[in-house]
Amino acid sequence: MSVQTLPDAARLRAALAAGRLPDERGRFGPFGGRYVPETLIPALERLERGVREHLHAQDFQQELTQQLNTWVGRPTALTFATRLSARWGAKVWLKREDLAHTGAHKINNATGQALLAKRLGARRIVAETGAGQHGVASAAACARLGLPCTVYMGEIDMQRQAPNVGRMRLLGTKVVPVTSGDRTLRAAIDEALRDWVADPLDTYYLLGSAVGPHPYPYLVRELQAVIGREARAQLLAATGALPDALIACVGGGSNSIGAFHAFVPDDSVEIIGVEAGGKGAGLGDNAATVAYGRPGVLHGTYSMLLQNEDGQIQETHSVSAGLDYPGVGPEHALLAAVGRVRYETAGDAEALEGVRELSECEGILPALESAHAIAGAKRWAQRHPGRTVLVCLSGRGDKDMATLQQALLAGDA
Ligand SMILES: *Cc1c(COP(=O)(O)O)cnc(C)c1O
Repeated sequence: MSVQTLPDAARLRAALAAGRLPDERGRFGPFGGRYVPETLIPALERLERGVREHLHAQDFQQELTQQLNTWVGRPTALTFATRLSARWGAKVWLKREDLAHTGAHKINNATGQALLAKRLGARRIVAETGAGQHGVASAAACARLGLPCTVYMGEIDMQRQAPNVGRMRLLGTKVVPVTSGDRTLRAAIDEALRDWVADPLDTYYLLGSAVGPHPYPYLVRELQAVIGREARAQLLAATGALPDALIACVGGGSNSIGAFHAFVPDDSVEIIGVEAGGKGAGLGDNAATVAYGRPGVLHGTYSMLLQNEDGQIQETHSVSAGLDYPGVGPEHALLAAVGRVRYETAGDAEALEGVRELSECEGILPALESAHAIAGAKRWAQRHPGRTVLVCLSGRGDKDMATLQQALLAGDA
């Protein structure tokens, strides 16, 4: 859906900048909403009331900030990438979510939602996971807060991500293999939802990205917005100015919406989301939903979606498991449609190159997901000598060692 086909683009862009979206129906313009079976509506309405009552209450925010500061390791550092800047010709700043507990931004959301679950009186947590990173973050947050946790994971993903299955189990979480459907993330989400509906009063569903039915895209954004809030203040303190550009990788869209949110009103800041270009533009060769998708419904929300001619969900490919999802959060669909954020792609090869460059120049081994943002930043830097770019480094790359060993080190002695 392009800017031209959105009749009230100017009004929606202003509403985004003023922080007035989603609206009371959970919509970001035409996107978002709640496309779920009737049985799920009461649970979502209860969650929505809980979010309204607690999320911005002073005592909840105090408790959350305490956990973020003393357990997650916030505020995370803002690092000037000295040697990368010299090499690329622009000033590159890195917001270091790789330094957050469990190695990525996902813990911000998991901690916030686990705390919310306690407030709402839940006795157990269910979550889904694909690559396992959200499962590990949820397992850690639940252990910390003393909540029993069950994580649904496709059996194919359990084989591919065995170390994360072990981490979850060590953290006291029950990992349930999903053998239905595509036996990966999509089927795992369906199973987690089924579990939740069976007992919506005692169970809390901890969703891992800025996707799903209302209020999840809003809730996850609010919990990840700490990234952009901190980075904005840190960069202003360090340089006295806002960045010229802000870049983050986009899977479901949580680290990016968290990084972007505080900057959306700043028209001088060019905002760029980088999706997984995989092996190329062909159907099934990438996970670049905004770039190549069409509007449709997946997991309870209306957004951009990778689908074939018949509207069937398309299999995706990316070298980074965390970006390998055929949907994207509804707020991103609107940010793209009104032209506030530009979405680009970076392919597998560019991401691997980004891992190598950041590791060798700055002593930081980034997650393959985050390396897509590095690739986007390199392109931008080379076109804008002397200017300033802020990059959200969503996570660290230790989890990717098996892939990196094959892709980057296979030829080494
Ligand atoms: C999960 C993950 C992502 C992608 O998820 P978003 O919701 O798009 O942020 C990006 N980076 C890392 C390190 C991840 O673990």
